[in-house]
Amino acid sequence: MRIVFLGPPGIGKGTQAALLAKRRGLTHTSTGTIIRAAIEAGTPLGEEARKYVQDGHLVPDRLVCVLAETAIAERDYDQFVLDGYPRTIVQAEWLTEFLETHEAPLDAAINLEVPTDVVVDRLSKRRVHRTTGENYHLDFKPPPPDIDPSLIIQRTDDRPEYIRKRLEVYRKETRPVEEYYEARGILRNVEGVGDVEDVYSRIEDMLLSSAIEKKPS
Ligand code: ADP
Ligand code: ADP
Repeated sequence: MRIVFLGPPGIGKGTQAALLAKRRGLTHTSTGTIIRAAIEAGTPLGEEARKYVQDGHLVPDRLVCVLAETAIAERDYDQFVLDGYPRTIVQAEWLTEFLETHEAPLDAAINLEVPTDVVVDRLSKRRVHRTTGENYHLDFKPPPPDIDPSLIIQRTDDRPEYIRKRLEVYRKETRPVEEYYEARGILRNVEGVGDVEDVYSRIEDMLLSSAIEKKPS
């Protein structure tokens, strides 16, 4: 199964991609996580990416495609979930070509959909563990009390002043990627409202009804 997740920041891509990967034995690659790790480690690529991420802009395609290629090549062409990639038409075209050369086309581009106010709530109340990267939400998935609170942080780009900017960037740069996959017949819109397991069930149902995965016997 080869899947990409689309949808604006905060919609739940990382949460659902991680669940799907874990339960279906797929590798999970989040370009955002890889980029943040590169920034944290101070690699040349991280240094170059830093200013874009901090300002809520997309990192240039030439940097991100190298990252994505390395991640997919190092892992598995056949069994993966990509989360937060592709985010531009250039990236989508690059991915199509890359996978074609490996005869491993995508099965589905899952596009999560929720009203904007829900996205803003999820994004503004997201917290992350500084070292493990585990995601929390102040209301729906509060950090457990035994974790040192100083390790639970808010991403700088999740602060309210950046949220509007990032949603705008999504509309401008990534919305066309939905149309790109729609034209190729693999866009699958999934309602993202409700708790995590409800959304996950909808994804599983969609995979079954699209015959992307056969029912276990
Ligand atoms: P979110 O989970 O809020 O959607 P991510 O963690 O996926 O955000 O990404 C955080 C930031 O990393 C983005 O705002 C952008 O600056 C950069 N980034 C991640 N993936 C990509 C990509 N595919 N293309 C360009 N920039 C990216
Ligand atoms: P994305 O990767 O699209 O930016 P995340 O998976 O990081 O989104 O989710 C954003 C925030 O919303 C996180 O704090 C996460 O815990 C929370 N969240 C994710 N899915 C749900 C859901 N179905 N209901 C409530 N909160 C959710």
